[in-house]
Amino acid sequence: MEKERGLLIVLSGPSGVGKGTVRKELFKQPNTNYEYSISVTTRKPREGEVDGVDYFFVSREEFEKMIKEGKLLEYAEFVGNYYGTPLDYVNSTLDAGRDVFLEIEVQGAAQIREKVPEALFIFLAPPSLSELERRLIERGTESEDVIKQRIETAKEELEMMKLYDYVVENDEIQKACEKINAIIMAEHCRRERV
Ligand code: 5GP
Repeated sequence: MEKERGLLIVLSGPSGVGKGTVRKELFKQPNTNYEYSISVTTRKPREGEVDGVDYFFVSREEFEKMIKEGKLLEYAEFVGNYYGTPLDYVNSTLDAGRDVFLEIEVQGAAQIREKVPEALFIFLAPPSLSELERRLIERGTESEDVIKQRIETAKEELEMMKLYDYVVENDEIQKACEKINAIIMAEHCRRERV
């Protein structure tokens, strides 16, 4: 029997909401049965970030070459840097019947909605905008200017929430992870019933 194509899971939401933290927590769990797609970016690595683990760090020229050659499933420019999802990895993993998990910002998620409408779209929402601002400042990885830009972007990003299949509030990491796993499990049951 032919293997079913895997499910493409898209986790999105504003910068600073904790997508990265939630994603890392999900992948720490021993029963995780989806694969993380490592993104390509032109952003400089933060302290502790490893090339090929956190991101594939590339130059703007390299990224633009990837765009031209059609190597990205989606990409976006976010606060001065490019971020994108490698197409081949996603396709080959889905074709092998395994689920792929993307953690991306909202413009990229909108592109995926066009290209892969059968994907599962989950929006991670902050308890409030002021809490989001507090988290971005507390993280301390960006300058004041970049934090301001990210908060402005977050206001627009929150508007996109209504386009998602599910909204998960990130008030507590473990709870958010449980909800995300429950959504993925339920989605499989829903799709496999025919
Ligand atoms: P950061 O610089 O904080 O690692 O990421 C900035 C934003 O880019 C976050 O919202 C993150 O989820 C998003 N991002 C990471 N990888 C991708 C990607 O491949 N495509 C898109 N569109 N956004 C991404």
